[in-house]
Order: sequence, then C-alpha cells, then structure tokens
Amino acid sequence: MDKTVNILGVNISTATVSEAVQIISGTISSGKKMGVFTPNSEIILSAYKNENFKNIINSASLCTADGIGVIYASKIFGTPITKRCSGYDVSLELIKQMADNNYSLYLFGASPGVAEAAKKKIEEANPGINIVGCHDGYFDSEEEKNIINDINEKTPNVLFVCLGSPKQEKWIYDHLSDLDINVAMGLGGCLDVYAGNVKRAPQIFINLGLEWFYRLIKEPKRFFRMLALPKFMLTVLKIKFFGGKK
Ligand code: UDP
Repeated sequence: MDKTVNILGVNISTATVSEAVQIISGTISSGKKMGVFTPNSEIILSAYKNENFKNIINSASLCTADGIGVIYASKIFGTPITKRCSGYDVSLELIKQMADNNYSLYLFGASPGVAEAAKKKIEEANPGINIVGCHDGYFDSEEEKNIINDINEKTPNVLFVCLGSPKQEKWIYDHLSDLDINVAMGLGGCLDVYAGNVKRAPQIFINLGLEWFYRLIKEPKRFFRMLALPKFMLTVLKIKFFGGKK
C-alpha cells in the first residue's frame, strides 16, 4: 500500500490521508514503532541541500506529501501523487481513530500554554480522546530529560512533536529509540491551529492549491520562508530538463 516517489532525494509516500492513518493505526495495533514526517517544499529543499538532513528525513517510516509543490513535483517527475496528504489532515483523522480505539496521545511543542489549550479544544471536539500529557517546545537539555521521562511515564501510543522544522525531525531522529511510544509525528505549527491561535486556510484555498497564498496574506513575515516554494519548483524543473542529482 505504501508506495514512495523520489522527490529531490526524499522518499515521499503516495498514501492518501486515510491510507496514512491506516498505516499509523496498524503500527499502533501491532505494538511497533514508527516516525512520521510531513515534508513540504521547504523541508524537501533543505534536505536536498543537506545530505545529513536528507538522511534524517528518509529515516522515517512514513513521509507524507504535505503541500501543493510536492504534488506538482511528483507530476513533473512522471510519478504523480494524486492528492496532498497534509500533516494537519492526517492528525485530525488520526485523533478520531484514536478516540474510537482508546489510543493515547501526548502533545509536545509550541509556546507555553498552547499544548494545554490545544488539548482542551481537541477533547471538546473528540469525546473519548485520551490525551495523557502536554509540554511546550522551549526547553534546555536538563528540561529535555524531564520531558523524555514524562513521556516514558505516560507511555502514549502517539506523540505529536510540534517544534517546527528541522528541529522536530532532528528531535524525533535522536530520541525515537529512547521513547516508550508507538508513533512520533512531526507536525510543525499544528498545535497553534488546534489551540485556535492560527486559522487554517478556508477549504476553497486548499482545493485551489493556494493555501500558501492564504498563509502569506495572514502572516506576511513568512515571505522570505515562502520563497522556498518557487526555489523548490525551479530546482525540480532544472533537474527534469537539464538533469543532475535527484
Ligand atoms: N517551536 C517550538 N520550539 C522551538 C521552535 C518552534 O515549539 O524551539 C514551535 C513554534 O512555537 C510553532 C511551531 O514550532 O508552534 C512551528 O510552527 P511553524 O508555523 O513554523 O511550522 P509549520 O507549520 O510552518 O511547519
């Protein structure tokens, strides 16, 4: 079921949101362990430029296609992924499955208080969800040990790691083997969305592949970060038409 497409050296799964949730649930029910990343154009471009980061991204059991640039790139390379599989959408559907199956969740990341606010909102929307712990994403090495101990005491099935990229991918890569969990997912700013501090783009923007544009209007300070999307597309086209390392 989990086919992958090589985009600038990163192995991206063709899984849809429900297939990704199925893969993750299967890991939980079989008592195994996995890391899940949700690379967008910006993350793939960073991985393309940095071999070490690329190896970290490719170490994940599942990398979903987060972002319209990734979908266009898959088409340009002749191995189309049909639909975006954003981290937020996967987390949303996974939470529903977890509530039905009594799987437990730990929320890690974002500014102090955000994970707790997200917990409250998620519990209101998903009666039965078992959120066993929260911690913000700003810590020193001493606090990091306490966070790992807290996670291991609470043994959640799933850990949402929302530290932004590349911090979250590196953190999962470094610590997954020490954690008594089944699944660690890198989910960027998702806790801010769950907490209600950041609004997701209206569905019409998402359907038109313009979520990036909505975010740019809402948060103009992201402009320089968002230049990663055209740079990513240019790199993809350059490789397609002139060759080079993929
Ligand atoms: N963050 C964190 N610790 C850090 C740096 C960032 O917890 O050391 C959090 C930050 O508060 C925000 C998230 O990581 O909640 C990154 O959000 P961003 O919107 O950059 O992620 P995206 O969704 O764009 O990947």
